[in-house]
Formats: sequence, structure tokens, C-alpha cells
Amino acid sequence: MKKPVIAIDGYSSTGKSSISKVIAEKLGLIHLDTGALYRGITYFALENCFEIDHIDFEKLSQLLCKVHLEFIQKNDELLLFLNEIDVSKEIRTSKVSDFVSIVARQPEVRNFLLDTQRNIAEKGGVIMDGRDIGTVVLPNADLKFFLTASIEERTKRRFHELVSLGIDANETEVRQNLINRDKMDSEREIAPLKKSEDAILIDNSDLNKEQTIALMLEIINKNCKAH
Ligand code: C5P
Repeated sequence: MKKPVIAIDGYSSTGKSSISKVIAEKLGLIHLDTGALYRGITYFALENCFEIDHIDFEKLSQLLCKVHLEFIQKNDELLLFLNEIDVSKEIRTSKVSDFVSIVARQPEVRNFLLDTQRNIAEKGGVIMDGRDIGTVVLPNADLKFFLTASIEERTKRRFHELVSLGIDANETEVRQNLINRDKMDSEREIAPLKKSEDAILIDNSDLNKEQTIALMLEIINKNCKAH
């Protein structure tokens, strides 16, 4: 029986990745955190194409062919390797968060990552989270979710996540970064963040991670008969 392909989109810090990870484990699916891929390219751009205060996007397009991103499972963690170096922690810094939406709106970057994402989903049995999964990357997904939550709740979550990773964080800056990214992600020309018409909307402002997972699993079990 073919395992389902599930698309999860939504605003920053609605818990998409951590929720998808648990659902993937429970259902035996592959999980792809596509935000980590955009963060990986942003880290590469900051290291190799940064000029005073901006990224040289012409240089980045020329260098994209030298970017190799790979997820490797180590114990309980899925680590992101950029050209064979573990950058899992570096991609979560505030500098990467400040630039990622600018990098993610570049057509060359989106094209570069589109094939990678689709190839992974080809055989089925995948849960992919991001901003344009249900609308662009996997428009024929078996099931689509769109996650939202209040800005206050999302700020708290991201702040605690950063602190737990040992990354310096300031709540006001975290909040502003979320607002800026949501705006840039929603307003960009290519593959903007928006709810696919056939996606199920979940507002988890008043739900914790476990409650959101329980709700989503119930919907998946009802809708994907293969399980
Ligand atoms: O999911 P995360 O917050 O780590 O994503 C970081 C950024 O990557 C987003 O703010 C967005 O600019 C970009 N992104 C995207 N399309 C995706 C996933 C992430 O543009 N499918």
C-alpha cells in the first residue's frame, strides 16, 4: 500500500517542523524540513557572497552548483550538512534568520531547491513542511495542512527554541524577525506563503505540541485510508 504524501505549510514558528518530525516517526514517513534547506543556502551565501551589508546574488547564482545539502540522521536528530560540514546549529542563528527570506525570494534559489524537494517525494511516504509545499512543490499531495497561531505565542515558542539550542536571543528581536519574514514570505512574487484552497487550516494558538499532533493524526487517519 502506498504511503501518503503530506504537505504542511504555515507561518513561522507554528511548530511545523517539530510536529512533522513526530508525525513522520509515528507513521513511518520521511520528514523533510524545507526551511532548513533555505537556511542552508542562506548560510552558504553569508559565508561566500556577502559584501559589506548585502548578499551578492549574481555571485550566489554562479556558486549554487557548488552547494550540496544533505540531511543525516544521528541518534534522535536530523542534521543538515552543507558540503559535508554539519551546519545544523549555524542555520538557526539570528543572522541567518534575518537574511533567509531575502534569499528565499530569489528565483534561482527556489528553482535549485524545487527538484531536490520533488525528488524526495516521488516514491511517496513523505511529510514535507515549508511555505509553498501544498501550492507549488506538491500540489497533488494526499493531504495538506496550513498552520497558524498568534504572534505572541509564536514569539514565545521561537524564543524558547533558540534558548534551548544555546543561541543568544532577545524576545523583541525574535518577534520582529517573525513579522518581517511572514510579510516577505507572503508578499514575494514567486511561490508566496499562502493557504492552498484544499488545505486544512489549524490555528494552534491555544493548543500545545501534543494536542496539535493528536488533532492532525486524527485528520490523517480519517483522510488517508492507506493507514
Ligand atoms: O521554516 P523556517 O522558519 O526555518 O523557514 C525559514 C525561511 O525559509 C522562511 O521564512 C522562508 O523565507 C523560507 N522558506 C520558503 N519556502 C519553504 C520553506 C522555507 O521560502 N518551502
